[in-house]
Amino acid sequence: MVVRRDSAVGEQASGGAKKTTKAAASGSAKRSAGAAGKAAGAAATEMAASAKKAASARKAAAAKKAAPKKTAKKSVEKAAKKSAPSKAPAKKAAPAKVTPAKPPRNESHTALVRRARRINRELAEVYPYAHPELDFENPFQLVIATVLSAQTTDLRVNQTTPALFAKYPTPEDLAAANPEEVEEILRPTGFFRAKTKSVIGLSKALRDDFGGEVPGRLEDLVKLPGVGRKTAFVVLGNAFGRPGLTVDTHFQRLVRRWQWTDAKEPDKIEAAVGALFPKSEWTMLSHHVIFHGRRICHARKPACGACPIAPLCPAYGEGETDPEKAKKLLKYEKGGFPGQRLNPPQAYLDAGGIPAPPLGAPMPGSPPVGTE
Ligand code: SF4
Repeated sequence: MVVRRDSAVGEQASGGAKKTTKAAASGSAKRSAGAAGKAAGAAATEMAASAKKAASARKAAAAKKAAPKKTAKKSVEKAAKKSAPSKAPAKKAAPAKVTPAKPPRNESHTALVRRARRINRELAEVYPYAHPELDFENPFQLVIATVLSAQTTDLRVNQTTPALFAKYPTPEDLAAANPEEVEEILRPTGFFRAKTKSVIGLSKALRDDFGGEVPGRLEDLVKLPGVGRKTAFVVLGNAFGRPGLTVDTHFQRLVRRWQWTDAKEPDKIEAAVGALFPKSEWTMLSHHVIFHGRRICHARKPACGACPIAPLCPAYGEGETDPEKAKKLLKYEKGGFPGQRLNPPQAYLDAGGIPAPPLGAPMPGSPPVGTE
């Protein structure tokens, strides 16, 4: 769904009205001048008596005709007033105001479900190519990349992992790695010492407890060092096709802005939002919400004026509402920049998406690397 502000339509309409009212004004002036002349002639001669009769009949008819056009007359006067300073440049029509959705105070569960699903449907239209934004070729690469994505962007992780997986392609290889060498590779992702410990520890657990394979069950995944429910669901949803909600920082912020829940703990948010959608939609819902959080509905400056779901959002106005200024806040492909993946899915490329460049390659106009 796209919010349209048809200011041009408004301007055309008012221009047309001016033309019509101008024509009406000059016509009515001519008519009244003619009527005045005839009335004078009728008073001078007797012959005019009959003419007077006819004239008054015409006058009455004209008055009858004019009667329902009082409003037109008013608008003629208004138009005349307006047209007086017509040499001044026409005022630009103000963009249509977006009225933020106001969910009723005691919104029923059914109404909330309907509202939440509508937002998800709209987001699915805005991001038909939504996908996990970490590059991976197998569950091992995904679980490692997800652990590395803490406190940095997926873009930065994607630019770093090719070197890591080229050197340590399996859990066994990474489990036996020299930590200092791994630290050097992971340095660009920040917190590289802690992350090195995590990925080596995780690889050892995979090697020792799961035969070198990433398990496909939630209860096993959360036993791995450094793997919480969020990471586990990313892996389940995207490497095993098992539905999962990814309650990351974007997800938490957006669902609270939309008043889907006021819970603050990820587990409670997961339960509350999970209850609004069928399980089969959980993975794609997570992608839609996270895509929107990264591109438009940012933490500090949400681009409300450029947001396609503004009419559905109770938090509209929390960010920049001026459309032009809001446009400048858009990130990644919505702002005309490359996406986060070096190897994005075909659907993204088909939609005109641009892949991210490898680490060190110039990325003109790219958004600053941060936690967004
Ligand atoms: S950008 Fe603004 S209008 Fe859009 S979802 Fe976020 S808070 Fe709501």
